[in-house]
Amino acid sequence: MLKIKIKDLKNIQKQMINIVIFGAPGSGKGTQSERIVEKYGFAHISTGDVLRNEIKKDSELGKTAKNYISKGQLIPDSLMTDILASVYDSLCPCKGVIFDGFPRTIPQAESLNKLLAERKESVTAMIELNVPQDELISRLIERGKTSGRSDDNKETIKQRLSVYENQTSPLMDWYEKQGKSHSIDGLGSMDRIFNDICKVLDTL
Ligand code: AMP
Repeated sequence: MLKIKIKDLKNIQKQMINIVIFGAPGSGKGTQSERIVEKYGFAHISTGDVLRNEIKKDSELGKTAKNYISKGQLIPDSLMTDILASVYDSLCPCKGVIFDGFPRTIPQAESLNKLLAERKESVTAMIELNVPQDELISRLIERGKTSGRSDDNKETIKQRLSVYENQTSPLMDWYEKQGKSHSIDGLGSMDRIFNDICKVLDTL
């Protein structure tokens, strides 16, 4: 009886921290994720980076992804969920994970919950970086001057922001209802924003 209890306790201690970093394109998710990784030693899963890597390799997945990315559209949920599961399993178990760019739809968020539950894990918190639309547009246009990304141009930026508004932003309410959402002012110095993120992470 006692042995079982000690085993259960160990399992509780082994629980990972699973953070969804959330926000529109250009809100600073990638930049802040890098700093979180450096400070907390979490693994970083950026689905955008995973797809861009596949495009570079000219793999079958890369060819499919290119079609969607260059138009500012989302890759179908079922394909994204399979990709996420395989990346997650290649990195975990580990101390914690930052999900950057996933989920982007409610079905993806449901798949993430399922994937984590099957591994006796769950989303610990969702941290939203809140940035006004005009600032997002100017950041993305500025980034486009050096990023070499096929989707950092005016036309595609407009499409990505509208996809965010229609398909991704409903997730804010979805996580809010689960009591997991933390909104951070994403406008201002990178240090102040990171500081606010740390305040949330340090309470988990
Ligand atoms: P990002 O680097 O996160 O801005 O993602 C760049 C592009 O990759 C997006 O505009 C989508 O076309 C695609 N993408 C990245 N993550 C996802 C996802 N979770 N679901 C669908 N498409 C995605």
